[in-house]
Amino acid sequence: MTATTTTVFEQLESDVRSYSRMWPTVFDTAKGAWLRDENGKEYLDFFAGAGALNYGHNNPVLKRALIDYIVGNGITHGLDMATVAKRRLLETFRDRILGPRNLTYKVQFPGPTGTNAVEAALKLARKVTGRQSIISFTNAFHGMTLGSLSVTGNSMKRAGAGIPLVHATPMPFDNYFDGGTADFQWFARALDDSGSGINRPAAVIVETVQGEGGVNVARPEWLRALADLCARREILLIVDDVQMGCGRTGPFFSFEVAGIEPDIVTLSKSIGGYGLPLALTLFKPEFDIWAPGEHNGTFRGNNPAFVTAQVALEHYWSDDRLETSTLELGDRIHTRFVGLTEQFDGLSTRGRGLVQGLAFADASQAGKVSQIAYDNGLLVETSGPSDQVVKLLPPLTIADDELELGLGILADAVASVCR
Ligand code: PMP
Repeated sequence: MTATTTTVFEQLESDVRSYSRMWPTVFDTAKGAWLRDENGKEYLDFFAGAGALNYGHNNPVLKRALIDYIVGNGITHGLDMATVAKRRLLETFRDRILGPRNLTYKVQFPGPTGTNAVEAALKLARKVTGRQSIISFTNAFHGMTLGSLSVTGNSMKRAGAGIPLVHATPMPFDNYFDGGTADFQWFARALDDSGSGINRPAAVIVETVQGEGGVNVARPEWLRALADLCARREILLIVDDVQMGCGRTGPFFSFEVAGIEPDIVTLSKSIGGYGLPLALTLFKPEFDIWAPGEHNGTFRGNNPAFVTAQVALEHYWSDDRLETSTLELGDRIHTRFVGLTEQFDGLSTRGRGLVQGLAFADASQAGKVSQIAYDNGLLVETSGPSDQVVKLLPPLTIADDELELGLGILADAVASVCR
């Protein structure tokens, strides 16, 4: 690191009331699975914008479409207007994603980012049911605005609100206790018992794999039991697919693995395709009850993001090649991780598709591994309540040799920390 870089990084840290991720350099350009800093050092990116770059940095197909759109004076801002870019995206979403899966969701553009999609989902569920409370899960992450934060099961994040938040009823996520929580019979009984004091909630919000929570994977049977509990009591099921959607776990929607059909689905991160902000809240047609203007906002429709989103869907989701390769690459990481757990004590592995986690019994080791990986040109972040899980989220389009290179750097880092 040069003196100049140190100065700029420190300046960013002290002048800007935000935080920089603890990769002490100033990044400049990026292509595919690679980032380059201003000193010309290259890094393999197994963080990928926390899942916002499933198709890699500056994906050439999406870049071409974006350039053509801008050169052709395509509309960049068209507040709630019907535009050609919006229509194309909606048609492609229907034809490539919803239609083949027999899903009939209506689409709302709730605002630019993931938390907006969650806020819209919570608000709509309450309006549809006329009920107030929401059930969420231990270690869940749904966003940083007041509604989404109140269903987020992370004490540190919640502390940002200053005073205690009214948590929607928190429940244990699958495998929160070692024996698992396969069924919801106890909760169903309490709901049905008029003397229990438990009010029927408006909705349950769940991630199929908790990304920020430490790569906690819900089993399909657990998700089905949850969907069944909701369906029988007219509680709406919201799947937050902001991080796990758009193919991260293999299929386009992460809930496909369980064969369930949520009432409401949130998407963001990689739906814009090029790292451009875009969010979607999908809901069953019978819940289309908002009058025009009851849920609006200035940046609800990002036309350049409509363009890149549409091309990404067309290019990557017209067949099942991306799903297949994602599952194969995920298996490959898993196998490597199993090898590490056999070699070293205190490690365990979890994941689905291209979200894979290596958990350390000693959380400080996870941080050291991430730091050593950075020094050797690999970006991986840690997640989980005590940052004890090294989480891999490479672009889905990563090449075989790039994946191998990154896994090699990671394995060396683990070996140097755990020996
Ligand atoms: N839901 C999930 C599952 C997420 O992982 C995130 C972001 N990490 C959000 C919601 C919030 O998205 P955003 O940061 O874009 O507001």
